[in-house]
Amino acid sequence: MTIPLLLTPGPLTTSDTVKGAMQRDWGSRDEEFIAMNQKVRDRLVDVVHGEDTLVCVPIQGSGTFAIEATIGTLVARDAKLLVLVNGAYGTRMATICATIGREVTTLKWAEDEAVDPAAVDRYLADDPDVTHVALVHCETTTGILNPLDAVAEVVARRNRLLIVDAMSTFGALEIDARVTPFAAVVASSNKCLEGAPGVGFALINRALLADCAGNAHSLSLDLYDQWLGFEKNAQWRFTPPTHVIAAFSQALKEHAGEGGVLARGQRYRENHRILVDGMEAMGFRCLLERTLQAPIIVTFLMPGDPQFVFGDFYDHLARKGFLIYPGKLTTADSFRVGCIGHLGPAQMHDALGAIRESLDQMGVTNGAPTPVSGDVVTASD
Ligand SMILES: *Cc1c(COP(=O)(O)O)cnc(C)c1O
Repeated sequence: MTIPLLLTPGPLTTSDTVKGAMQRDWGSRDEEFIAMNQKVRDRLVDVVHGEDTLVCVPIQGSGTFAIEATIGTLVARDAKLLVLVNGAYGTRMATICATIGREVTTLKWAEDEAVDPAAVDRYLADDPDVTHVALVHCETTTGILNPLDAVAEVVARRNRLLIVDAMSTFGALEIDARVTPFAAVVASSNKCLEGAPGVGFALINRALLADCAGNAHSLSLDLYDQWLGFEKNAQWRFTPPTHVIAAFSQALKEHAGEGGVLARGQRYRENHRILVDGMEAMGFRCLLERTLQAPIIVTFLMPGDPQFVFGDFYDHLARKGFLIYPGKLTTADSFRVGCIGHLGPAQMHDALGAIRESLDQMGVTNGAPTPVSGDVVTASD
């Protein structure tokens, strides 16, 4: 049986050593496990240079659990969150607010347009009730990179607090707490850090978090309480995902061993370059302009050739050992190919070979999309 490579936005392909780290059982109250947790939490703070200001609060579950817990803990029940939306993950944060009863407002952009800091500035000038702003660093819906530093500068200047969903960038694109002001950055074990899925975490400003007692709408998703637990005895309040933490600990060692954020980002940029060059040579077209694209996941417009049926293409690739991802756009027909995970140039070239072969088997000669009235196809059409 061949294990497929995951060219997706997560969970991702992990190294054999990360998978191997899950081969033993841990007592949740055992000294060795407690020490491992402390190291993982410290290392995550180090990744964004937050030693002086941030605490790491991990939470059981996928990334969305960590986002919901962060919003519920930081945004007081009488506060108001402005969510900057240019894709599905921004929309999800607004849905979280509606679900847990936090006042929310949104500023929206098309899925192929980055968030505009000047528009955020104007909005904040006009709405004094907004206390917090939420931004998705890389909107994994398309792979678009939003201008974190510029948005953070505006939010800080307007005296509001910023919550960053850095789920798909953390560990690969630089975030520096010493220069970029934010209240919290949220991510998970199974994206650019290349661990197994099952734990999310928030890096939160310590002084802010200390003020958040009683905010949360939920017992299990209360990051203030979760933090107090770690402060008290370095243990989890409720059953920890022991094997996932062990894999995460190993993944973080490998992240540091590779050279940290810089080296990980460099490998992904190279994966991205190989992928896009190879796909464009087959006629495929990217949704986004190159300057807007993060080296995380690429959205390709659906080919116009009637022989191209996405379900068949997916099956052909899966049989050859590569799993890709359907599109998540609301407006343009598309599919996505990821460039993150334990993959390098050899795997990206293999993936391109499998794509070429799949096209041949389907009788598709060219991956070009159908032009709309002689014009470029964009998500906003
Ligand atoms: C993956 C991801 C999430 C969380 O998704 P889960 O399926 O809950 O892990 C949130 N935001 C972004 C930008 C993501 O890429």
